Amino acid sequence: MSARLLDGPTVASAIRESVLPDVRAFTASAGRPPGLGIVLVGDNPSSEIYVRNKVKAGGESGLWVDLQRLPATASLDDLLALVDRLNASPIHDGILVQSPLPDALGKHATQRVFDAIDPAKDVDGFHPVNVGRLVQGRAHLVPCTPSGVIEMLQHYNIRIGGTRAVVIGRSEIVGKPMAMLLLQRDATVTICHSKTPDLPAVAATADILVAAIGRAGFVTPAFVRPGATVIDVGINRVTDRAVAESLYEPGAPRLADFDKRGSIVVGDVHPKVSEVAGALTPVPGGVGPLTIAMLLKNTVTAANARLRSA
Ligand code: NDP
Repeated sequence: MSARLLDGPTVASAIRESVLPDVRAFTASAGRPPGLGIVLVGDNPSSEIYVRNKVKAGGESGLWVDLQRLPATASLDDLLALVDRLNASPIHDGILVQSPLPDALGKHATQRVFDAIDPAKDVDGFHPVNVGRLVQGRAHLVPCTPSGVIEMLQHYNIRIGGTRAVVIGRSEIVGKPMAMLLLQRDATVTICHSKTPDLPAVAATADILVAAIGRAGFVTPAFVRPGATVIDVGINRVTDRAVAESLYEPGAPRLADFDKRGSIVVGDVHPKVSEVAGALTPVPGGVGPLTIAMLLKNTVTAANARLRSA
């Protein structure tokens, strides 16, 4: 059996199309486009790429995207002061602080910064108020990656209600909100993590299996019930050819990619899972593009809510 591939770019462009009329309507009534402030601290190369893609996608959808950079030497106070300025700004409807933050800002910096963002502008959905609303089933701004996964399942008419879902990973940004969104749609949800006993056996009970772990090819066919839908959230850069060889057969095009570039990006799901799963999101080209599309959608949602409450 060869799994049906769930195509991220197709779903992402459908979401981005659906946002355009709302962007036009907002711009006409507010006399300005929805505004998104993105804060980038330091020069993490992956963050540079993510932010560049967000700025580009926002501009293409008619948003005003304001990239605010702070040097790696900035203090936590500098960063919090910038967040305060964006909170007070009338033309920034959404605020996103790109993570990871530099280690020098301290262990609790990320939480301090997320806590400081005005919940009405929290387009990442990480503020405790928005997390609480999500848990209570009355979310307004939902974390972008898990809400993108729900859009993907809905786009392909994959049933959620009444299914068994297993989420591997319990992070605040993916695993936990993913489990909540599936639960609210009437899946019976199990959350797994690094201390879960018999993980492959638990995973193999899933009709919908979500992998958000951060380990290349960790989910092998032994984790997957035949015919299950497998959502691969992982984004892992492989720089060791031996690891690439453990994932792909000799002569596979992705090994040739590795030889050309010296690295490849792979998911948490082993490619052989496509022989067992009923449907599968590829990496790249699966969940990744949805995260940005949902960020644009959240920005427009935040902008409209602010316009209504003005
Ligand atoms: P975190 O590192 O915050 O969380 C990873 C989770 O995986 C933890 O809950 C951890 O368990 C669990 N885990 C780690 N090792 C094992 C193991 N051996 N067995 C079972 N569980 C394990 O990662 P994130 O949630 O932030 O991200 C996960 C992946 O998704 C990454 O590859 C990341 O790059 C990618 N990602 C992709 C996005 C996209 O747009 N597609 C957006 C965000 C993330 P424990 O809690 O016990 O430590």
